[in-house]
This record gives sequence, C-alpha cells and structure tokens, in this order.
Amino acid sequence: MSGQLTGRTALVTGSISGIGLAIARKLAEEGARVALHGLGSQADIDAAVAVVSAAGAADVRFFDGDLTDVAAIDRLMEAVAAWGGADILVNNAGIQKTASLEEATPEIWNAIIAVNLSAAFHTMRRALPAMAAKGFGRVVNIASVHGLVASVNKAPYVASKFGLVGMSRVAALEYAGKGSRASGGVTVNCICPGWTETPLIEPQVLARAAECGGDRDAGVASLLSEKQPSRRMSDPAEIGQLVVWLSSPIAHNITGAAIPVDGGWTSQ
Ligand code: NAD
Repeated sequence: MSGQLTGRTALVTGSISGIGLAIARKLAEEGARVALHGLGSQADIDAAVAVVSAAGAADVRFFDGDLTDVAAIDRLMEAVAAWGGADILVNNAGIQKTASLEEATPEIWNAIIAVNLSAAFHTMRRALPAMAAKGFGRVVNIASVHGLVASVNKAPYVASKFGLVGMSRVAALEYAGKGSRASGGVTVNCICPGWTETPLIEPQVLARAAECGGDRDAGVASLLSEKQPSRRMSDPAEIGQLVVWLSSPIAHNITGAAIPVDGGWTSQ
C-alpha cells in the first residue's frame, strides 16, 4: 500500500500529539505532503515534524493557529492554500473537560464548542470548494462515540460532537455529486473513537486510578468495563490507518458516514 497518497497534501489539525500525530504519520507513510498544526512548545512541534518526516512524508510543514480565533483559522487556511491546498482535511483538534451541567461554566462551553465544532465549520467552508474544483477531496472529522451517544458530565463535549456529525452529513450531501469515480470524488466522513490512548483522556484515567487505590491499570480497566465491551483501548495508529483508507480512491462512495471505532460501545 505504501505510496498510495503520493501527490496528495493533507492538513491534520491538532497533529502534534495523540490521534492527530498518529494520523499524520500514517498519511506520511503513504507518501502524502503533510501540514501539521497544533498548540504546543517549539520542542513538541520540532519532535512532531521530525517523526512525520521520518515516516516518509513527501514534505512536512508546521502551521500555527489557535482554533478558538476565527481570524487565525482564516490565516491557517490561506497559508495551507498557498502551500498547495489540502486534498485531505482532517479536523482532529479537540478538547475535553468533564463537569456536570450545573458546574460547567460558559467559558468551558464556549471553548469546547469553538475548538471541537466551529473550527471544523471554518476549515471545511474554506477547503471544500477547492476540492470540488479538483474533483477529489477527503474530509475526515474526528468526532467521538460522544457524537452518537451521551455520557454524564460531558454536555459541551457531547453537544460539540453530535454537531460535528450532523454538520459532516450536510457537507457530504452538498458535495456528493462533485468529481467522478475516476477522479475519486469529494467525501466527508466522521470517525467516532471510543477510549483511545492519548493525553486527552489522562485526567479521566488518573481520576479513576485514584478511586482504585492509585493503580493506573485498574483505573483504565474500570473505565473500559463501563462502556467499551472489547475492554481494549484503541491505539491512535489504528485511527490513522482508517483515515488512510478513507482517503483512497476506493472509498469514493463512502460519504456522510460516522464510523465507530469503539469496541462495541455504541452497539449496546
Ligand atoms: P490530544 O490532547 O492529544 O490532542 C489534541 C490536539 O488538539 C493537540 O494537538 C492540541 O494542540 C490541539 N488543540 C487543542 N486546542 C487547540 C486550539 N485551541 N487550537 C489549535 N489546536 C488545538 O487529544 P486526542 O485524544 O489525540 O484527541 C484528538 C481528537 O480525538 C479530539 O477531537 C478528541 O475529541 C477525539 N477523541 C479522542 C478520544 C480518546 O479517547 N482519546 C476518543 C474520542 C474522540
């Protein structure tokens, strides 16, 4: 399969850690040019660029932009367009904060909606017309099982992810007729992970570990036993491989889907 994305350019938001970095690596292994993005120290950025470069990317560049700032998103999309434009757009950046509805502040609500939902609107509206003009484009939005089902203490997060799934379906419909089977078409899909080993879930893991006498493994097992029937965490690289597959021409007729990678969570 190596090299199947040669000639394609991918923008992955929030790609200096976790799932985003794993997606960027998998796209790089297939020969894509990769635009990295995220918030972090220069050391984090340099490390991510080195990893993605070593994975085989045709070219790698880091683009900054705080996704809570609409003007910064516009600058990000202009800079990526000047670099060749994204054939593959992965809206991956996301934040999470657990709090009951009573305790969640307007600041928590605004930040989560801005990063997890509004930012994807701003990047998609900029990227999709160019994809349509080329007859090829892939948008993969990293939603969550929480775009399909709810859990307590996650109102802003669940609202943002349900919104992302709904918005992706609208975009899928609006662009379904663009391009051809030969050109690959323009598709918009969501991936809906369950528990996946990244820094995002660490506060929840540590809180549960504390309830289990400080035993981290017991904390992870307890979280999984509640919701994820496989009782296994996903490796971020597995999400990356699914993005590669959705980016291939063979997936031209898969659009508007919300694909769970959740060990059976949403089948219950
Ligand atoms: P992570 O914390 O490792 O990565 C999040 C990324 O988003 C980071 O690179 C960060 O720099 C970036 N980011 C955050 N706020 C930003 C902002 N204001 N501007 C620009 N970039 C910003 O977390 P992750 O687990 O890899 O999460 C990636 C995506 O996967 C998120 O959308 C998350 O909701 C989703 N997800 C994760 C899990 C899981 O179990 N880890 C499960 C379901 C869905």
